[in-house]
Amino acid sequence: MAVEDSMVQVVVRVRPLTPRELESQRRPVVQVVDEQVLVFDPEEPDGGFLGLKWGSTHEGPKKKGKDLTFVFDRVFGEAATQQDVFQHTTHSILDSFLQGYNCSVFAYGATGAGKTHTMLGREGDPGIMYLTTMELYRRLEACQEEKRFEVLISYQEVYNEQIHDLLEPKGPLAIREDPDKGVVVQGLSFHQPTSAEQLLEMLTRGNRNRTQHPTDANATSSRSHAIFQIFVKQQDRVPGLTQALRVAKMSLIDLAGSERASSTHAKGERLREGANINRSLLALINVLNALADAKGRKSHVPYRDSKLTRLLKDSLGGNCRTVMIAAVSPSGLTYEDTYNTLKYANRAKEI
Ligand code: ADP
Ligand code: MG
Repeated sequence: MAVEDSMVQVVVRVRPLTPRELESQRRPVVQVVDEQVLVFDPEEPDGGFLGLKWGSTHEGPKKKGKDLTFVFDRVFGEAATQQDVFQHTTHSILDSFLQGYNCSVFAYGATGAGKTHTMLGREGDPGIMYLTTMELYRRLEACQEEKRFEVLISYQEVYNEQIHDLLEPKGPLAIREDPDKGVVVQGLSFHQPTSAEQLLEMLTRGNRNRTQHPTDANATSSRSHAIFQIFVKQQDRVPGLTQALRVAKMSLIDLAGSERASSTHAKGERLREGANINRSLLALINVLNALADAKGRKSHVPYRDSKLTRLLKDSLGGNCRTVMIAAVSPSGLTYEDTYNTLKYANRAKEI
């Protein structure tokens, strides 16, 4: 990969309005202009947004919006398929991955914005975790003659600053840094699914094992960060020579909701969790910001501040490739969340 190629790609996926959002009659606040441009809170043209009449809390003269134009590496509108998103995100870093670079792909956004749909997907419409693994198998099988390889997968969550295995649930797991292997989660189970069905079953089972607690904001709110990892070990088949062993790790992460704990009226136990989620999420944001500032310079990157950033220490910065997928709802009901996510995604472009 050429040096000038960006180490971080930032894309935005705008999901379709849900039935509840449609019913609310609030006008959409995101307008996808083209494959790279979107406008947040566009000024309403005469005759209504996109020629449609939406109910509005603003009576009288036409509403003045923030009318902010954002440019990203890619913008996916509501009609984008899982395959579209895969092709223009993870697919583009698979070459680097197979050359031995660690990669990480994040889904960032508020609860309900479409993170899990993008990463995990649903029955009959699997997401990036599945599509990436399948494409890797295809590529590796195509070079079976020249290479010996091994693929292992793991699925874990960081919840309340504790790491849990989602495929073989047991007590919280500890992180260790190994001089040769990099970051190691002690006791984490590794798997080798032998068919597409088995892989899907593992993803579904792992997701069911995620810690989920209903909150006021959303009944299926997830406060955990789910981390699906694919490890590839490759060795050239060259008889009589010492063969170089190449090991790389791809981390696909469904982050916890980025909305503030305060907006869900969290109390007691939930508040503590909220604070901890903010800790991992804030730490991630701080690490990414430090990497942006550090460009070409030596500076302190605070990996140690949370479990999530410790876990990803060898997968962020340096030669690693990163894709940030910011998920947003177009509805006026989630105006602040969408605005905050877009602002954050826009800042992440500087990394
Ligand atoms: P999050 O994980 O960010 O909380 P979800 O992925 O669970 O959000 O999405 C919230 C709801 O919207 C779900 O019912 C999901 O199926 C639906 N949804 C999200 N993205 C899309 C999409 N691109 N197309 C269709 N439905 C979607
Ligand atoms: Mg989710």
